[in-house]
Formats: sequence, structure tokens, C-alpha cells
Amino acid sequence: MFKQIIEYITYIALFIFFVLLSVVCLLGIDVFAAEHIAGIDTSYIQHLPVEEPEPESEWVYLGKFQITFYCDCVKCTGNGNGITATGLAVEAHRTIAVDPSVIPYYSEVQIAGLSYTYQATDCGGAIKGNRIDVYVTSHEYALELGRWPEVDVWIQK
Ligand SMILES: [Zn+2]
Repeated sequence: MFKQIIEYITYIALFIFFVLLSVVCLLGIDVFAAEHIAGIDTSYIQHLPVEEPEPESEWVYLGKFQITFYCDCVKCTGNGNGITATGLAVEAHRTIAVDPSVIPYYSEVQIAGLSYTYQATDCGGAIKGNRIDVYVTSHEYALELGRWPEVDVWIQK
């Protein structure tokens, strides 16, 4: 009899415990939701910062340059591993070797007569002053393109 009463009380206690737990959970969610809703400030939504449009890229004329062409062979680069002075791999229509004191590394460069936008990521022993060496994929092509004197060059500021 006594054991049955203990069991009965235990069941009641467990039942109450779960009911309280459920109430707390429900209240918790309710409170969270209320806070969440209260936290929304409609005036803030109306005044969300508008993203500034990217400023128009500005190309600055740099002057006349002598343009030559090179590939990643041993003859052209010494080591022939296709890794530029900045550590980036050579890329067709993109990599140019420059004198970094004239054109800073990573500058975006446009060369008259070449329809791509190049990036100054490489340098070369003979590339000093107003000289640019444009990377091409084969030595024959580099030779075929030859040397272009007095070519207009622009750099992106
Ligand atoms: Zn070569």
C-alpha cells in the first residue's frame, strides 16, 4: 500500500514536472518571439544603407612604352616554371612583366593594339623604364609578335 502511494506520488511529480517544462518551453518561445518582433524597427528597414555604386574605373595615360613578348620557356624567363615575380602563375591575355618602379605590381594595364586588360605581376632583367613584356603561350608566337616601339599605355587608378 505504502509502496503504491510512493509510486503514485512519483507519477504525479513527473507529470507536474513535464507540464511545467512544457509551459516554460512554450513561454520561452513566446518571449523570444515577442522580443524578436519588438526588436524590429521599421524605420531602420526604411533607412537601410544603400550600397554606393562602384566608382567608374579611371584609366590614366602613362605614356609611350616599348612592348615585347615573352613566354614561360627557359630562354624567356630563366627558370621556365611559369611563376611570375609576384608568385602568381603566368596567364595568357593577362600577365605582363613591368618595371615595378614605373608600373606598380598588380596594376591593371591597357596597351594600345591589345584588346585585353593586363595585370602587372611579373618583372624581367631587361624590363626597365617604359618597357612592357607581354606574356604569350609560345616562344614562336613571342618571336612572331616581335617588338613594338612607342605604344600608348594606360593604367587603372
Ligand atoms: Zn620563350
